Amino acid sequence: MHSPRTRRTFLRKTGAVLGGLALSGAPALTLAGGQNMQRRTPLPPGTDPLGVALVGLGNYATNQLAPALQETERCRLTGIVTGTPAKVDKWMAEYDIPEKNVYNYETFDQIADNPDIDIVYVVLPNSMHAEYAIRAAEAGKQVITEKPMATSVRDCERMIEACDKAGVKLSVGYRLHFEPHHQEMMRLGQEQVFGPVTVVEANFSFTSRNTDAWRFSKEMAGGGALLDVGVYAIQGARYTIGQEPVRVRASGHNTRPDIFTEIYETILWDMEFPGGAVSTHSTSYSANSNRLYMMAPRGWARIEPSFMYDGQSGQTNEGPMDFAHVTQQALQMDDFARCITEDETSRISGEEGLKDMKVIEAIYRSIDRGGRWVEV
Ligand code: NAD
Repeated sequence: MHSPRTRRTFLRKTGAVLGGLALSGAPALTLAGGQNMQRRTPLPPGTDPLGVALVGLGNYATNQLAPALQETERCRLTGIVTGTPAKVDKWMAEYDIPEKNVYNYETFDQIADNPDIDIVYVVLPNSMHAEYAIRAAEAGKQVITEKPMATSVRDCERMIEACDKAGVKLSVGYRLHFEPHHQEMMRLGQEQVFGPVTVVEANFSFTSRNTDAWRFSKEMAGGGALLDVGVYAIQGARYTIGQEPVRVRASGHNTRPDIFTEIYETILWDMEFPGGAVSTHSTSYSANSNRLYMMAPRGWARIEPSFMYDGQSGQTNEGPMDFAHVTQQALQMDDFARCITEDETSRISGEEGLKDMKVIEAIYRSIDRGGRWVEV
C-alpha cells in the first residue's frame, strides 16, 4: 500500500506533468477503479486535432470552455451554435471561426454536413441538454453535455440510447475527474489507504443573487442547487467511496418562499452505501460551502475549497496535499478526444451522469415522502 505522503511527493514532482510534461509522453498513472491519473498523451504525428463546436455561448462556454480549448492538444474550437447574433462577430474574430461553422438553433442539424466539427459540446440550460445531445448524435457527432447530464433519468437514458444508436460517444462535463486533489481523494478512498471509508461529508452551496435566471425555473433547471452544484457532492461521495449509494433520505427547506417559488433554497440529504459507508450532504443557493471530507478508521482527508475551477486546498491527517494547478476542462476535453481516437469509453460517460440523476430523483422522492429513506 502506498503511503499518502509518498504519493503526494511523487505527484508534486509530476505536478507539471498534469499541465505540460504529459505532452512529452509521460507514462499513465493508474488509479483505483481503472482510472488514469494522466492520459494526456501527445497527439500522434500526422493526426489533426478534433473540431469542437460549443452550443450555447453563456458564462461557462465563454469564460471557461473556450479559453480551455486554447490549451488542448487533441481538440480545438472550430464552431459555435448560438441564438444571439450579436455574439457571433466577436467569437469569430477571437477564435478564428469561419462563418460556415456558425449555427443557430434552427440551422443546428446542418452541422451533420460539416467535417470541421467532430464533437458537439452542449452548454445550454439543463432542460435543453437532452434535446441538443440527441440532435448532435443524430447528426453523427460525438457528444459532451454539461452537468447535470439532463433533468430526468428518462432523458439521460434517451441520450445514451441516441448516442449508442448513432455509434458516437457521450461524455458529461465532470471536470473534477481530471483535478489532482480529487484524483488523490479517489485513490485514498477507493484503495482504502486509511481503511474502508466510514463517512463522507460533502457540501456545495453558493449565494445566488440572480434570482430571475433560468436556474430558478424548475422547468429549465430541473431543480435547484441540487442539480446545479449538489451534483458535485453526490459525485464526491461516489468516487471517494467507489460504490453506488443504495438508499437516500432528504429534506428540502425554504426561508424565502417569495424568491424560491419553484425550487428548494436548501436541500440536506444522506446516502447509504452497500459496504456500510454513509455520506451526509447539503446544497443551497443561500450559503457558501465547498467541501469534500472523507473519514476512515486510520485517517481522514479533506479538500476545502474543493469543487471550483482552481484553488483546491487538500489535507490529510498526515499533511497537506500539494498539487500543481491544472486546467481541468482542457484535460477533460483532451481525454474525450483521446477516447474517441482510441475507441474507449470516457471515464465520465453518460452512464456516470445517469447514476447521479438516479440519486437526484431519489432525493426528491424522499423529500416528497417527508424525509423517509428511499431506494435509489
Ligand atoms: P448561462 O445562463 O450563462 O448560459 C446559458 C446559455 O444558453 C446562454 O448563452 C443562453 O443564451 C443560452 N440559451 C439558449 N436558449 C436558452 C433559453 N431558452 N433560456 C436561457 N438560456 C438559453 O449558463 P451557464 O452558467 O453557462 O450554464 C450552462 C450549462 O453549463 C448548465 O448546464 C450548467 O450547469 C453548466 N455549467 C457547468 C459548469 C462546470 O463547472 N462544469 C460551470 C457552470 C455551468
